[in-house]
Amino acid sequence: MRLVYIRLGSVHANTLQVRRTASLLLTGLIILCVGVTGHHYWPSLAVSAGALVRAAAPVVAGMADSAPLQAVAETASDVQELAAAALAQTPENSTRIVEMGNGRTFSRMLLDAALPSDDALAAAAALGKVYDHRKLKAGQEVALSITRLGENRTLTGLAFSPEPTKEISITRQPDGSFIAQMKNTPLERQRIAARGEIRGSLYGAGEREGVPRAIMAALIRAYSHEIDFQRDLHAGDKFEVLYDQPTAKDGTPVGQGVIIYAALIIRDKVRPLYRVTFGDGAVDYFNELGQSVKRSLLRTPVEGARVTSGFGMRIHPLLGYSKMHKGVDFGAPTGTPIYASGTGVVEEARFNGAYGRYIRLRHNGRTQTAYAHLSRFAKGVYAGARVQQGDVIGFVGTSGRSTGPHLHYEVIVDRKQVNPLSVSMPTGRTLEGKTLTQFKQGQTKIKQEFQNLLEKDTASQNNAQVLSPEPEPKPKPVLVAQKS
Ligand SMILES: [Zn+2]
Repeated sequence: MRLVYIRLGSVHANTLQVRRTASLLLTGLIILCVGVTGHHYWPSLAVSAGALVRAAAPVVAGMADSAPLQAVAETASDVQELAAAALAQTPENSTRIVEMGNGRTFSRMLLDAALPSDDALAAAAALGKVYDHRKLKAGQEVALSITRLGENRTLTGLAFSPEPTKEISITRQPDGSFIAQMKNTPLERQRIAARGEIRGSLYGAGEREGVPRAIMAALIRAYSHEIDFQRDLHAGDKFEVLYDQPTAKDGTPVGQGVIIYAALIIRDKVRPLYRVTFGDGAVDYFNELGQSVKRSLLRTPVEGARVTSGFGMRIHPLLGYSKMHKGVDFGAPTGTPIYASGTGVVEEARFNGAYGRYIRLRHNGRTQTAYAHLSRFAKGVYAGARVQQGDVIGFVGTSGRSTGPHLHYEVIVDRKQVNPLSVSMPTGRTLEGKTLTQFKQGQTKIKQEFQNLLEKDTASQNNAQVLSPEPEPKPKPVLVAQKS
């Protein structure tokens, strides 16, 4: 504005020239202002450009006081017409979804959407202040808000969700800069019911029903006190599980869920367990009689393993003569995690001759467990360290005198090895009195909830199948626990 005023003041030599110059200057002013304001802030253009024309006129009228500039006033109406013609094209706002291409940068993606490079670079720079560009993956969808006026396209904002619990929005400010904001979307808790039949493995059965692997692992851990998955489970057996799963807004499971109720139906015998939270915050699983499933030792300290050699006399595979086998061998691939059978203290964690890498835990004054032929020890496992039941203490291997990857597992009671599969293991806590009554009432409610959720789920699945007659192929089950 200032520039224009000065220019106008300096041209008064001849009226025609003033007319032309003023007209050009004013047209330039309109274009300049539309250009600057519009380019940086289209959304308010519909209002501001109209106001701009009105604002331009009084300036011209004010100048018209001096005689040589009288003509300028006459041109004002021309200018208004010109501006009106330009404004006849109303800005169009639209939203467009674009996708990050493979190996493309964020700004490149915006340029590909035919946005001005200034906008693309400024928006990308704003994003960099709240989120690491390198974490963006190909296929990331981004919703762009674009304003279009004639040939000009302007980015007014964009929004996307780079992670299930994160939302980023970038908005254009009135001064043309961009501000990015990232907010964490709260997790929702979804209660989910699933039931499935076991064919190859429990994991596979869970996978077919869409149960997260972490939930199946928790289920296996909860039952590992009393069930030998290799010997007790058979094809045709069933599982049920009711669990709380934290999920993002779009339903994506996030983090570890919690099992509320589970059941294994083994040869038509139902073996349920229920989660109980005590007043002091302690959590435990109980069978229908109110007995804790937690025993002093795990029956199987390695997941998905099968017994390859039992306890007792046998021909030693390497030595070739009869020898007492003082433990149980579980065949499992190298690297399979080994769990502490019970809570206690590490007595030994070292290379121990024929045992190879060897761990011995002391659980109480009378009971120890030993683990041999490991490929490596878990972090923090050394003599004197404390471990909790279920902690990973090491990994299956074939160190020492061994024919292949397996865990040699011993239970030692009063300094003598006993058969881990038949040793009587005292049960944990038992519910009694009023607590037991409440627990039994709770069972009925939980089972009802499980049934209702399962029916609802089945109904919605049936509806989905009507809509898409060809359901997506289900992922192949992963065989973890082999069946005999
Ligand atoms: Zn052995």
